[in-house]
Amino acid sequence: MLIDSHTHLYSEEFDPDIDQVIQRANEAGIQKFYLPAIDSSYTERMLNLEAKYPQQMFPMMGLHPTSVKPESYESELEQVKSWLDKRNFSAVGEIGIDLYWEKSTLEIQREAFKKQIGWAKEKSLPIVIHCRESFDEIFEVLEEENGDKLFGIFHCFTGTKEQAERAIGFNMKLGIGGVVTFKNGKIDQFLNEIPLENIVLETDSPYLSPVPFRGKRNESSYLKYVVSKLSAIYEIPENEIAQITSRNASSVFAI
Ligand SMILES: [Zn+2]
Repeated sequence: MLIDSHTHLYSEEFDPDIDQVIQRANEAGIQKFYLPAIDSSYTERMLNLEAKYPQQMFPMMGLHPTSVKPESYESELEQVKSWLDKRNFSAVGEIGIDLYWEKSTLEIQREAFKKQIGWAKEKSLPIVIHCRESFDEIFEVLEEENGDKLFGIFHCFTGTKEQAERAIGFNMKLGIGGVVTFKNGKIDQFLNEIPLENIVLETDSPYLSPVPFRGKRNESSYLKYVVSKLSAIYEIPENEIAQITSRNASSVFAI
């Protein structure tokens, strides 16, 4: 069994063929799909997909850093909090800091990140971190929030070996997806020095398709290309990659 720990299957891009997309993923061995939240404009779509496939879809709740806007982030955060109080979610995510798309909102991004980490701790939930051009800022926050209650996944990990080790030191697993198959992706060069116990698989569909689909719409069934690349990097059979990374994901998510 494989677990896609990060997939936006509720996105508009899957409207025309979502059932086939899920069927293809099931045929490729993927049985559980963890759905990261973006903002309130996607909540209904996400929960509708869960309602349709309740055994397989596990929504998260959170405000994505690129949706942290001065005019709306406070009310967005209130909605996140009220959902977290209302029902179970698999994680608080995706949350974090993104300085690629927007630098001017750093302060409120940091505030939203910290606040949501606090809620995750209150609810004993993992966090799922989005980090883009912001390792220093993210690590600064994790340093402040560090402790037994802090754990989760560093989604789409694309840093250096030192940054990988630092993330793991904060009880984070590394989310590895299509980037590991890219020629210039860099992480393939040191990943075998990071014990596999710290790795979870993800697609980040519809983004970041692995080779040979780079640039096209990504979907969860393409996780098999990530598995085969990891099998080459770690020099262990694909079924062991599947087994270990699924176990890792199950240990992070209680559901
Ligand atoms: Zn994502």
